[in-house]
Order: sequence, then C-alpha cells, then structure tokens
Amino acid sequence: MSNPHDTAPSPRATIAAIPAYVAGKPPTPRPGQQVFKLSSNENPYPPLPGVVEAAEAAVARMNRYPDMGNTALYAALSDKLGVAPEKLAAGTGSVAVLYHLLQAFCEPGDEVVYAWRSFEAYPIAVSANGATSVRVPVTATGRHDLAAMAAAVTDRTRVVVVCTPNNPTGTAVSDAELRDFVAQVPPQVLVVVDEAYREFVRDEDPVDALALAAEHANVAVMRTFAKAYGLAGFRVGYLVAHPDVAAAVRACALPFGVSSVAQAAAVASLEAEEALLERVDALVAERTRVVDALARQGFEVPEAQGNFVWLPLGDRSLEFAAAAEQAGISVRPFAGDGVRVSIGEPEGNDVLLEVTAAWRSGVPVPE
Ligand SMILES: *Cc1c(COP(=O)(O)O)cnc(C)c1O
Repeated sequence: MSNPHDTAPSPRATIAAIPAYVAGKPPTPRPGQQVFKLSSNENPYPPLPGVVEAAEAAVARMNRYPDMGNTALYAALSDKLGVAPEKLAAGTGSVAVLYHLLQAFCEPGDEVVYAWRSFEAYPIAVSANGATSVRVPVTATGRHDLAAMAAAVTDRTRVVVVCTPNNPTGTAVSDAELRDFVAQVPPQVLVVVDEAYREFVRDEDPVDALALAAEHANVAVMRTFAKAYGLAGFRVGYLVAHPDVAAAVRACALPFGVSSVAQAAAVASLEAEEALLERVDALVAERTRVVDALARQGFEVPEAQGNFVWLPLGDRSLEFAAAAEQAGISVRPFAGDGVRVSIGEPEGNDVLLEVTAAWRSGVPVPE
C-alpha cells in the first residue's frame, strides 16, 4: 500500500519531546540608534591576532576534506594543557561534544542529572539521545545545589553535568565543592564539567577540572573556543577525559566534523594567548563595573563569574527584554525566571545600565 504524502513516518517518541533552542536574537536596527547584541554571550572583540590569516589560508584549501584526526589542534591543545592527545575529543562546538558523549554513554531511558536553570542545550541534547533529564533546582542565589545533585544520582544515572560558571545564572562552584561532589558520585557515573566560561572566573578557589580529570577516570572536562577565544561562528569545542572516554566520544563524532578553517583558527587562537588574556581581563573589568553599578541601583545579582550577568526578574523578564530592545540592546530573557545579559562593548554595557536605572525608577526607557 502506498503512503499518502501527508503522513510522514514517525521519528522516535523522544524526538517530539525536544524543546526548541531559543537562540539569542540580534537587536532590531533603528534609524540613528547604535545597537548591541548582548544575547548570546559572544565575545565583542574581533578575532585574535593571526587568526584571520590562518583561517584564510585554510579557506584556500576548501576542495580538500579537513584533517579528520584534528592532528594539529590536538597537538596544540596537548602542549598547552599538558595532557596526552588520546585524552582529547574535538567536536563542532562543545555542544556537539556533549551530544557525542551522551550518545556514547546513555542507553534509552538512562538518566542525566544537571542543575536547572542551566544551559538550555542540555535538555535538548539529552532528549535527542533518548535519555531522561533529571533537573535539580539551583539555589535561591543561582548556585548548583551539589548535595541535591549527588542525592539525585540513581542506578539509572550515567552522566552528571556540572556547568561552572553556570549559564545563565553566572555562579561558579569552587574547587573544594567540586572535589567533595566527585567523591560522592559512584565511579561508573561520568561527571562532565562544562567549563565554557572558565577564562572569566576570578574565584578565590577556582575549579581545577583538569587536575580532577587526571585523578578520576569518571571526570570529563568540556571546553569551547566560542566564548573567550571569540570563535563562536566557527564551531569548535573539545573534551579532556580518560583515554577510553575520549575514544568513545571520538567514535561517535561526525567524520570530518570540525572544518579545516575552524581547526586552523583554533590553533592560531591558542598561539595568541597574551592578547586573549588582555581581552578577558578587559571583559572581567567591565563585568565588575556592571555588577557594581547594578548593585548600587538596588539589583540583587548573583555572583557573576562568566561574561554575562543574570537579572532574576521573574514574571517581568519579558517586559525587561522588550524595554532593553527599545533602547538598542538585545538580551536573553527566560520567561518567568530572569534575564541574561552578556558583557559586551563598554558602550553597550552603558546602555544596559541606563535601561536598568530607568527600570528601577519606573520611568519609561529612553529610545
Ligand atoms: C556557550 C556554551 C557552550 C559552548 O557551546 P559551543 O557549542 O562550543 O558554541 C557550552 N556550554 C555552555 C554552558 C555554554 O554557555
């Protein structure tokens, strides 16, 4: 019997449950108004010195497939991080690395524990791989409740994700807290430490996830070139883990996934460490300026350790985002919960502080 064209075959049941990823929007340009995109935690700086040249040289060879083994990238990372190349697994962004890891480790219905609210890609990646999300609410100050997360681990748990600093609430766990947590997690459960914003951390006891991963075969570290390194558009991230874990993740990766341009740009970015650190310091200084100003305006902002701040505005989050949009900045609201605002150019951050000041005083925001 033929299949009528209006009845398509059904995907796996778990696919219908995938929540939509809501990407940060660019601001709508208005005549005479400068606009700033503060909605996706991107780096406002242009590529690091030498990166455009390296990428252009790779573009000229686009008739060839990329190096499937990411050899130069793994060599550069291995050098920089002091880890053996067999402990590395690269992907098209650390989100892709997470997909591969869940595919490698989760049978249908296996549980993945993570904090909530946290990175919106987690529930999507978990559902897409047929696993089950177990969300553990963050504390009133936006911190991971690690005790509750440890208690949420069951016989079905295969993976626990610790996002530090946490997107979108901004808080970081300390090294002591993470060590204590890992000690409570059974050895067959993988603890994935998502360090997308690690360069921006200025905690007195910062997580040393690589050391922890060196000591525990069930600890894996995810990092990305998208944020501090400013390569969001090129899609490259990586995992550092026990060689067997890294091999399983590499086995699930799309063949030739990371483009030759992305590989070349990532290697060149690693070589520009001095400029990277300067830019990160400047963004951290701007973060401090914004957080201090928000506190003076009377906002209760959780500790901000990433390149963004979290305004817990609850039911008024969408209203705030609309007011910000009017003033020329796009922010990322989470309805009923809060608003995440990236630290951008100083001029953009100034606009944010004008919007928040007007918000506090109840005066309509100037356009
Ligand atoms: C931005 C971000 C990433 C990085 O994603 P890419 O796929 O590398 O762009 C990973 N984790 C968190 C928490 C993030 O906010």
